[in-house]
Amino acid sequence: MSATPSSTGSPESSPFTLERGLAAFRAEIDGPVAAFFSSCVHCGVCAQSCPFYLETGDPKYTPILKLEPLRLIWAAEFTLLGRLKGFLGLNKQVTDEMLSEWEELIYDSCSMCGRCSLVCPVGNDIQAMVRKTREGMVASGHAPEGLIGASVRAVQTGSPMGLQWKTLQVQINHIETSTGLTVPVDQAGVDYLVMLSSMEVINFPEYLEAITRIFDHAGVSWTLSTQCFEATNAGIQIGNKDVAALLVQRVVDAAVALGVKNVISPECGHAYTAIRWEGPNLIGRPYPFHAFHIIEVLDQLRAAGRIKTEGMETDRLSLHDPCNLARKSGVIQQQRNLMDLVAENFIELKEHGRFQWCCGAGGGVSSNERAEPLKLAAFKMKKAQIEEVEPERMVTMCATCRTQLEEGLEHFNMDIPVVGLTELIAEHLVEREPAEQAEGAT
Ligand code: SF4
Ligand code: SF4
Repeated sequence: MSATPSSTGSPESSPFTLERGLAAFRAEIDGPVAAFFSSCVHCGVCAQSCPFYLETGDPKYTPILKLEPLRLIWAAEFTLLGRLKGFLGLNKQVTDEMLSEWEELIYDSCSMCGRCSLVCPVGNDIQAMVRKTREGMVASGHAPEGLIGASVRAVQTGSPMGLQWKTLQVQINHIETSTGLTVPVDQAGVDYLVMLSSMEVINFPEYLEAITRIFDHAGVSWTLSTQCFEATNAGIQIGNKDVAALLVQRVVDAAVALGVKNVISPECGHAYTAIRWEGPNLIGRPYPFHAFHIIEVLDQLRAAGRIKTEGMETDRLSLHDPCNLARKSGVIQQQRNLMDLVAENFIELKEHGRFQWCCGAGGGVSSNERAEPLKLAAFKMKKAQIEEVEPERMVTMCATCRTQLEEGLEHFNMDIPVVGLTELIAEHLVEREPAEQAEGAT
C-alpha cells in the first residue's frame, strides 16, 4: 500500500507496517474481545445470517472466521496457554502474507451489517469485532485501495469523493431556481444543521430539493454550513479511529460555530451511526446538540402535525431498511409512519426491520472496486426478497443502499425503480396558499 490516511492529512507521513498493525490489533483487545473469543461455541449460526457466506457457499466467509488474525493475537498473547505455547514456538504467527489474504475477508466480504451479531446465541457482536480488526489491517498497510483513496480525500478535501462547496453551490442555485425557495447557508442559531453525503450530492440531488421543500412547508429553521457539509465518515469504513474522529470533529465544529440545536444526518446509514453513536466516544466528549437521521426528523414533524400531505401512491411499494438505521439504531417504525402518509399499497418484505437482509454494499464495500463481484453476490439475498413480494417500486433511505438497489436490480434485469423516502414525502406536500406563503415569509 503506497498511501494511507493519517490524521495529519499527509499520506506520505504514514509508514504503515506489520509492527504497527500488530500493535493496533493488541490495542483493540480488551475484556469484551476476550469474552468474545472465549465464549464462541463455534455453532456456525452466524454463517446462516451472512449474505456473503450464504450467496457464495464458501466457508471462508463464515463471520467468526473472518476474525482469525485478531483471534490469533488474542490467543497467543492474552491467554496462559498461548503464552506457554509461545515459549515452545508453537503459536501460528500473524504475517504480512496472512493479512494480505485476510484483506478480502475483512473488507470485501463484510458490509458490517450486523445481522450475524443479532443471531449469535452467546451475544457476540461480530460486526464490532470486524470494525476492531480493520484498525489493525489499516495500520499494517492492508486496506483496499478504494477505501484508502476515499479516506485520503476525506481528510484532505472534506469529502470522500473530493467534492468541494462550489459543486454544492451549483446544486443550490438549481434548487432555488426550480423551487423559488431559498436554501439557507451559514445561518446561525437555527434549529437544524443539515449534513449531506457525497453520494446524495452527486447521485441524488433531488434529496436536497426535497428537504428544502419539506422544511419550508413545515416552517423549520435550518441551514447548510460552508465549513462542513459532508457527513460521510470514511474513517469508520476503513477502520481508522484517528480519521474517524477528525471527520466527526469537523461536523461538531461546524455545528458549534453556527450554534445549532440539532444536526441532521443525511440518508446515509453509516454516516448516521458515525455521528449519532460513535462520534462522542471518538472525540471523547458529549455533543452540545442532538443528532438525528432525516427520517427521524420527518417523523417528528409528522407527529407534530407539521407535514400535511395529499394524494397517495397507488403502486405496490416495498421498503428496504438500511442496516445502520433499522438493525443498529432501532429506527424502524418512523419510516413506516411516513410510508403510511403517502402509500396506500405498501407491502413489507418478509424479513424487515431488525431482521432485514443487507443490500451488500455498506461498510465500505461499495467504495472497494475489487469487491464488485462479492457485492453483487450478496445482493442476491435482497433480490430474492424483492422477488417474493413483487413490488412495482422500492423505497429506501440510504444513498448507498439506494445505489446498490438500483445497480443490483439493473444487473439482474429487474425493472423496479428505487426512490428515496424523503423525496417521496416531498412529492405529496399540500401546496400552501399564496397568502399562507406570504405570511410564512414574514
Ligand atoms: S454464532 Fe456466535 S457462538 Fe456461534 S460460531 Fe458465530 S460467533 Fe461463535
Ligand atoms: S456483519 Fe453482516 S456482512 Fe459482516 S460478517 Fe456479519 S452478517 Fe456478514
